[in-house]
Formats: sequence, C-alpha cells, structure tokens
Amino acid sequence: MEKRTIRKGDSSGNGRIVKFQMPSGLEIISLPTENPYGGEWDLGPTWNYVVMSERPFLVDTGRWCQGRNLLAMVEDADLNPSDLEFVLITHSHEDHDGGLAEVIEATNLKVRAHLTYDLLRKAYPDQSPGGHKKNFPAKCWHCFMPESFYAKNCLGYHDFLRKAQIETIPDEGSVLEQNANIRVLHLPGHSPDCLAVLIGEEAIIVGDILLPDITPWPTSLEMFKLVGPVLRPYYDDGAKLFGLKRYIQSLWKLLGISERMPGIRVFPAHRLYYESKWNCINLGQRINELLDHHIQRCAAILEIVSSGARAVDEIVREHFEESKLKGAGIHLARNEIISHCELLIESGDLIEVKEHVYSGTGSTNFENLIHANPMSSAAAVVPPSTSLPK
Ligand SMILES: [Zn+2]
Ligand SMILES: [Zn+2]
Repeated sequence: MEKRTIRKGDSSGNGRIVKFQMPSGLEIISLPTENPYGGEWDLGPTWNYVVMSERPFLVDTGRWCQGRNLLAMVEDADLNPSDLEFVLITHSHEDHDGGLAEVIEATNLKVRAHLTYDLLRKAYPDQSPGGHKKNFPAKCWHCFMPESFYAKNCLGYHDFLRKAQIETIPDEGSVLEQNANIRVLHLPGHSPDCLAVLIGEEAIIVGDILLPDITPWPTSLEMFKLVGPVLRPYYDDGAKLFGLKRYIQSLWKLLGISERMPGIRVFPAHRLYYESKWNCINLGQRINELLDHHIQRCAAILEIVSSGARAVDEIVREHFEESKLKGAGIHLARNEIISHCELLIESGDLIEVKEHVYSGTGSTNFENLIHANPMSSAAAVVPPSTSLPK
C-alpha cells in the first residue's frame, strides 16, 4: 500500500494527514483529531477518514469541538468539504461523533449511523432514570461523570444530539456504493451501534471494534436494563446488541473476513500511528490476540472466586493494579469485570449468588464459548445488496 504524507503532525499521530492508496487506486485519507482528555492515560487522537470513492464520504468527526479542525484538515488534504456526500458515524462515543455539530453547521452534510444510534441519541424524559439525566440522550444515562464535568463539557453536545437528523442503517448493514463494493457492517459489542466499513476486498475501517495497543471495552448486558424501554420496540433481546459475548461474535465475523480476504488493510480509530511509529494490523492475528486476552481475563476471575464467592468490587481490586482504578478507571474496571462475569454465567462457570456477587461452579467452559464460532462456515458477513435511500 502506498502512503503519501501530506502533513506529519506530532509523534502521537495528532494531525497526521496521509493519503493511503489501495491496489485498486482508491484512496483513503487519514484526518486524526486530538483527544486531550488528560489524566495518566492517553488514548491518542481519533483517526477519522475520508474514503475517496466516486462519492467521497467522511467516517467519524472526532470529539466535541474538533469539527472545525477536522474540516480544516479536509482542506489541507486538497478537498473541498462540499465534495463530501455524507458522514458515517462508526458509533456513539463522543470521541467519534462530538465533532459532528461543527461539521453539520458548516456543511449541512447528511449523517448516517446505525438505527440504535438514532434511538439512543434522543432524550426520553418519561423513561430516563430521572433527576439531572431527564434531558440526557439515552446513550448517556449510564454515564458516571459528575455534574462538575457534564455541566461544563456535555450540555451543548446533548442539545445538538437531540436535534440531529440521522439516516439510519439497519442491522443487515447497507451498501454505500455499488461500484466500489463499499459496505457497512453492524458489529455491536463495544457499543450497540458499532459499524465497520468494508471497502471491496482491500480495506476495512473498523472504528473502535478492534485497535492496536488497546483492548476495546465491551459493554455489559446491564446497559440494556437501562435503555431497554427505548430499544424494545425494535429489539426484545439485549444480547443482540450488548455484552462481551456479542462483542466476541463481532470479532468472529471479522475473522471470517480476514480468512476470505487475507492481507486486508485495517484502519482503526485510534493508534494507527503512535509514539512515532505505524501500527500495522494483521486482522486475523489481532482478533486472536483479543480473544486470548478475554480468555485470560475469564480465567483470572475464576481463579479469584475459586476460594469463595466474591463481590464485583473485590474482584476488581484483586484483578487490576491500583493505578488503573483512579478516577474514571474504577468505573471502566467494574464494567469490564461485570461483562466478563456475564459471559462466565452464560458458560455455566459462574453463578450470581446475589446482585454482583459471584461464585464459581467448578467448571471451565468459557473457552469453548469464546472459541465457538457463532457464524457457520458460510458466514453471513456480506449484507444483502440493499442500497440506502439517496
Ligand atoms: Zn468507542
Ligand atoms: Zn474511540
């Protein structure tokens, strides 16, 4: 794959504009925008992309207040924002759709995202957990950030989301462009609305479904308890959208693609370039590393409960180093343990003796569950050829 660097950016990849040329000649342009979240852990920029198909389109917009910067980068790449047909949002995390407000304000581009993105970006005052979250988008109901944070950082974002106009993509995915065979795949688990863009047989833009360096955070089935009333008219089973098992099924779908298309180029939403080096991803290899990571974490949890029932917070403290539990880290760690415990309950290796207290059953079936490819050999990874409305 040929790469032409338009702007070098910094050593973390911020502002690094590169034109990647695929074997077919199609270009994918990277436009990474900053994520200055602070704290001890650095995510690196969000890698947004323009796919230079017949009708060029933008994938993701970076975080809140990065939209204008992103559009300036589009121009630095010798493109006019008005040449773009639409924006596709890979999922509802703020580092991906936060920049949308400024992008829409400046360009009026159409926005495409998964059906659940559209449902969960709205507020439902009658169904919300109440209090200050009454006017929050449903996707933010589970958020743990304190008022000192959201009052300063989130209210404008919420307001924009409630008013946004979204063209929805169904679970079966969509064909974005017939000629170049560009398809969108719905691969939930990290978030219920995760999308990947498959470009012919030569490239895939994966959002946060799969990243180098970082193991993406799986949702827990518990989130469905909170937003279920909003989703239930469309989904009666939360396991179709949430949880570690659903995430692993999405990895299996990607594994099917890697087997059919060895050598496919992977464009992740973080860390494509980081600490002054490129992180090239071998799709099949990275998926196996991630499956292995989850197997090890399940095994570690079973080890912890082998001496008796433990509450989630005890497991968290035993499993993670103290430094990982600072600030928001404790919430992420807790979610991580809960999502793994949910999978261990499903595999019959764990029982929940009371809320968030788990006890081992003595079995270790989880590995079979993680390795059980839910897709048959004729894996239905390619969505039916239904075009989106123009
Ligand atoms: Zn994400
Ligand atoms: Zn992200």
